[in-house]
Amino acid sequence: MRSKIVAGNWKMNKNLDETRALINELVQKLPETSAEVMVAPTFVNLSEAVKSVAGSKVEVVAQNMHFEESGAFTGEIAPGMLKNIGVNTVILGHSERRAYFGETDTLLKKKVDRALAQGMRMIFCFGEELEDRKAGKHFDVVESQLRNALFHLPKEAWKHIVLAYEPVWAIGTGETASPEQAQEMHAFIRETITSGFGEEIAEAVTILYGGSVKPGNASEIFSKPDVDGGLIGGAALKADDFIGIINGI
Ligand code: PEP
Repeated sequence: MRSKIVAGNWKMNKNLDETRALINELVQKLPETSAEVMVAPTFVNLSEAVKSVAGSKVEVVAQNMHFEESGAFTGEIAPGMLKNIGVNTVILGHSERRAYFGETDTLLKKKVDRALAQGMRMIFCFGEELEDRKAGKHFDVVESQLRNALFHLPKEAWKHIVLAYEPVWAIGTGETASPEQAQEMHAFIRETITSGFGEEIAEAVTILYGGSVKPGNASEIFSKPDVDGGLIGGAALKADDFIGIINGI
């Protein structure tokens, strides 16, 4: 059985007080669920967030990390620093990192390698832009993002990898891929992983969908056989909405 995951990416939102309050509300209201539940507050609040989730099933994860372990990289965060405060999972390759901070497949490959060297788990994000879809290139774009950053890995690495398909045109736009579009792409992703690593690994890898998932559309998207949960942006910022989405699993 693949793990089901609902992960909230808080992006650059919530100060320390708001972080504590949202986590406390989430922990108090969290329903019984078979899904793993993750939240990704901003770096500066990770340490406190880890304390706030103690004793609950909520895991605190990071939104990013650097590809080196230490050194002259002003403003950056090393994976070992995350592990040292109890953060063992990291989101890599979010489309906002790719679009606004110039993260390329080549750079992401280095981050993937570093995260693995540290024994971290990662949620690796990828997805096409609107022009790619309009031009019918969405499958090619997704395949090359996967191949460029992940296809050099040994098979053992895959137990540390969660994939998150996030069509850029659906992120923060209120526009969602239809459940059929999500399923079509997720099935393609699984085939792509099968071609590189075999069916056993492809069947075991958790593939999340991200892009304007809300309490009202979550269960339909999550009901698709190759969709194993969601990476949630805006709707993760309110406990009741996030819980509504978790209930859709
Ligand atoms: C995201 O940023 O990963 C995301 C899916 O955002 P939203 O849910 O707001 O579209």
